[in-house]
Amino acid sequence: MTELPDDLKTDEIIRSLASDRSTTWLRSTPTEAALPDLGAVMDSAAARFDRFAPWFATTFPETSTVPAELAEAFPEAGGGMIESPLVPATAAQRRLDELFGSEVTGQLWLKRDDSLPVSGSIKARGGFHEVLEFAEAVAADHGLDAFDPATYSSPKFREIAANHRIVVGSTGNLGLSIGILSARLGFAASVHMSADAREWKKTLLRDHGVDVIEHAGDFVEAVEAGRASAEAAENTHFVDDEDSVSLFAGYSVAALRLERQFAAAGVTIDERNPLIVYLPCGIGGGPGGVTFGLRRVFGTAVRCVFVEPSQAPSMFLGVRTGLHSDIAVQDIGLSGATAADGLAVARPSRFIGPTIGPLISGFATVPDEVIRAGVGILHETEGIDVEPSATAGLTIPWRTGDAAAESSSGIHLMWLTGGAMVPDDERIAYVEEGRGLVERIGSNASAIFVD
Ligand SMILES: *Cc1c(COP(=O)(O)O)cnc(C)c1O
Repeated sequence: MTELPDDLKTDEIIRSLASDRSTTWLRSTPTEAALPDLGAVMDSAAARFDRFAPWFATTFPETSTVPAELAEAFPEAGGGMIESPLVPATAAQRRLDELFGSEVTGQLWLKRDDSLPVSGSIKARGGFHEVLEFAEAVAADHGLDAFDPATYSSPKFREIAANHRIVVGSTGNLGLSIGILSARLGFAASVHMSADAREWKKTLLRDHGVDVIEHAGDFVEAVEAGRASAEAAENTHFVDDEDSVSLFAGYSVAALRLERQFAAAGVTIDERNPLIVYLPCGIGGGPGGVTFGLRRVFGTAVRCVFVEPSQAPSMFLGVRTGLHSDIAVQDIGLSGATAADGLAVARPSRFIGPTIGPLISGFATVPDEVIRAGVGILHETEGIDVEPSATAGLTIPWRTGDAAAESSSGIHLMWLTGGAMVPDDERIAYVEEGRGLVERIGSNASAIFVD
């Protein structure tokens, strides 16, 4: 354990986190912080997804046509789009009003990344992008036309790809995204899974021909093992979830898409109708990339709140202390363990906090019980089944209510981060368990800090 400096030991927000209480920190001065100079990587990631759309459309038949829910926002798209619907959630909003005995003003909306094609989680954005970027680099290195989607179905490319390996450490979903896509492109792939990873995710990857290496330790250990195995190896690319600009760029593209989806829905986002986005957070890469993109697109009309399990608030702790990846949740006596396996990360990204930290408008922690209950609420009200991690933010607007008066109007957007790949038996178990917890959701006390 790192010995905490005295000023941190007395910080009331850190003490609240350390006591395992639900804690909210709203940074009331919506920062005018300058955007880091990453707009170019975001734009080139968007162009890369466009280039690969024809390949996706032929390789994954489920993406070959643009689903009706997306057609209005993307009339020119011809299939192969990795995108998810944006939908209002009035039934869930009414139910939460009832459970909390208070109404939030503004409207609850859902971003359905739980239903992203091919790998069923937000990791399809970042993870796919990094694999595609590597594929283009390999193609170009070998004199192939990297910008022609047909290249990636050619025997020549597949022969070359078989001689290259992609390695990643994961709590599950990043491994799924990277593993599935790597295998389809013909790359060898190794996924180092932490103890939190669900068994079915390992089985599914093995079925795709991916090497799955299981670790008894946490995510940090799985990443370390992956990095070490890739270091000396030839023709090997390590996807570093602790420090990857390519993952980040892939996530950020979501904002360009969201802008068009709100426009198609006839919703204007501006200072009078602000967008408050609740992002389930693990290591910070996904929410960090999305936040950058959203701030670039919507400016100060958007506020992003990162939501973490109360035993694993790694980004919250890193940004609040300013120590970023030099501090882990164990340093304040928390376990890092949570039922929200996608968020089971004890030490934050080296890259996101220092770069994106000033753009984050708030942090919140939630106990596992509330996260699980969220699965039940979405099932009962919207008929949507997600994995527990995806629901982390669902109750936050009701929690902050008056304390964040300015942020209780506008659009409250819950970023549902995963779910479509969960096998039926587990899905049914999550729903059953969640439904049993719904009635208790309003009784969760929390500490709110505004500064
Ligand atoms: C990975 C993941 C997140 C958070 O992304 P990070 O980059 O780890 O912060 C949230 N929800 C789900 C379901 C995930 O798999």
